Formats: sequence, C-alpha cells, structure tokens
Amino acid sequence: MDSAGVHRSVGPELDSYGIRDGHSFGTGTDLEADAADVRVHDSGERTEPVGDTIWQVTSEPLPHPVTGDLFDSPVTPGTGWPGDPATARTPVARTVKQVETLAGRAGSLAELDASVSVCRACPRLVLWRETVATEGKRASFADQPYWGRPGPGFGDPEPAVLIVGLAPAANGTNRTGRMFTGDRSGDWIYAALYRAGYASQPTSSHSGDGQTLTGVRIVAAVRCAPPANKPTPTERDTCGHWLDRDLTLAAPGLRSMLALGAIGWDATLASARRLGWDVPRPKPRFTHGAEITLITSGDRPIRLLGSYHVSQQNTFTGKLTETMLDEVLARL
Ligand code: SF4
Repeated sequence: MDSAGVHRSVGPELDSYGIRDGHSFGTGTDLEADAADVRVHDSGERTEPVGDTIWQVTSEPLPHPVTGDLFDSPVTPGTGWPGDPATARTPVARTVKQVETLAGRAGSLAELDASVSVCRACPRLVLWRETVATEGKRASFADQPYWGRPGPGFGDPEPAVLIVGLAPAANGTNRTGRMFTGDRSGDWIYAALYRAGYASQPTSSHSGDGQTLTGVRIVAAVRCAPPANKPTPTERDTCGHWLDRDLTLAAPGLRSMLALGAIGWDATLASARRLGWDVPRPKPRFTHGAEITLITSGDRPIRLLGSYHVSQQNTFTGKLTETMLDEVLARL
C-alpha cells in the first residue's frame, strides 16, 4: 500500500487501463504514470472490474444524451458508449515507447482508434482531460457524462480524404467522444462536410446521433484536450506516432489531406517526413488554401491542402467564412 492508501501491484506493461488515485485527483499527483496497476483501494470509493483490470469510478453515472444509458466519467472502455472503439481488453500505452509500439502494431484504422482511445502516455493531458470530465464540466453540460478519453479518429474506414485538426476541445470531443462533435468548431466543419456531400447530416451534437462520413476521416495532431488548447512539443511528438500510423494505414486509398491551421499543417508534414514521404523543401508555409503534393514511400501522390482552423476565433471574426471553407473542401 502506498502513502495514499492505495494497494498496487505490477501488471503487464501494455494490458490494462490505468487508474487515477481518487485521493490525489486534481492535486497534480498522478499515479498511473508507471507500469503499476491499482488493485484495491482503501478510500471507500467505488471501483469496478473491467476484464482483468479495475476502473475507478470518479463520479456518479449519468445518462448519455442520446441513448439514456448510464456512464461513468471518464467513460469506462467497452461499456457501450456509442462509437467507443475500445474494449476492456484494449492495450493501454503509458509511455512514448508504448505509443510507438502499439501504433506500429495496429493493423487497421479500427484497431488504431481503439488503442488511441485508451492512451495514457501524456500525464499532464490525462490529468487535464479527466479533471474536466469530472470536476471541470461546463455548467450547461453538468447533467451529461463526459468521455474524458482521447478522441479516436472518426469517419470512413477507407478514406479518400484525411482531415487533420489540432486537438479535442475540453467540452467538445472530450465530452462526446467524437472528433469535432458538440462544439462550435464542429458545427462549422460538419455543416461544410454536409454541403460538400461527405457528411450524412449537417450537425454533429453527440456520438450516437446518426452522423456518418463517407470518403472522409477526421483525426487530430494531438488526441487529448490540452489546457489552454496548447499541447507541449513533447506531447505533440508523443501523439505524432498515432498520426504516423493513421497516414500509413490510410495512404493506399488517400487522394488528399486537409490540415486545419498551422499546427495541423506542421504535424502532417512532420509525420510525412518521419514516414519517408517526399516532402517539398524548404518546408511549405501554411496559408489558407495552400496546396502541395506529397509522394508516399509507395510512390503515390497525395495532395495536402491547408485551411484556417474552424475555431471560433477564426469563424466569429470572419477570418474564415463558409465560402472560404467550401472552396477548399471542393478541391479535396
Ligand atoms: Fe496519448 Fe496522444 Fe493523449 Fe498523449 S495526447 S495521452 S499520446 S492520445
């Protein structure tokens, strides 16, 4: 038993979901950052078994806005959340090396999404996303369960177009579990994707709302909601392994990619370089409407376009208009 009153035992490196100690929650002390698994708590807080692991419940279960099913916050993997790609047995990455290993092992986008959705490799971001999901909910969403996990890719399992965003929003994807879903940025991108014929409906409010994408997959440079929307360079590098695998698995069918904002642009170029793709030099500058051609290691040309990010900062100020976004999407 450690000083926090938690019994711990060493588990297999990659086979269980990490647990945060309820006593230390919100204090900056995070006990999941090593290879040990909490097995028994003395705190009196409720814990639930998930396969051969234990998932600590940090808040009262609340009903999903669409299905009405009850969920903990953060959502326990494999408990029926609409679109949850993981199961209780999905291996968990806790270090950058494990991210690299699991990303490299993913044989399909579905497998990749499952691994991404339970990743715990960045302690600062894990603490932030789970703090928001429990103690830091926006008041208007206080009656909803929060996903509180990384945002897995969303869309067509064999995409012709890959959209690379920045990172989930704390009360958007971090609440709904789906990329660009449940926030103003999502209102913009899904409406535009609907106008362009890629989305089945113009809105995207919750997982389980019937939204589907055809021909398009949406991912992000960083898959966890960062404080102040600012991931650190280390967090970007760590999460870059997931993006590398996304590009690798999608590449055979891709004709184009859309990077949202300079960070999405830089992350996509960096990933392409790591994969040995031919990237123009000097590094092409991000601008709205920029377009370059990347050549994959399999000699396939894939066009990369840039758009201002669909953030409120850009859409409220008119820096990005619907027409501007539509024009870029029409070129994908
Ligand atoms: Fe894992 Fe990426 Fe989230 Fe870091 S930001 S914990 S690498 S999913």
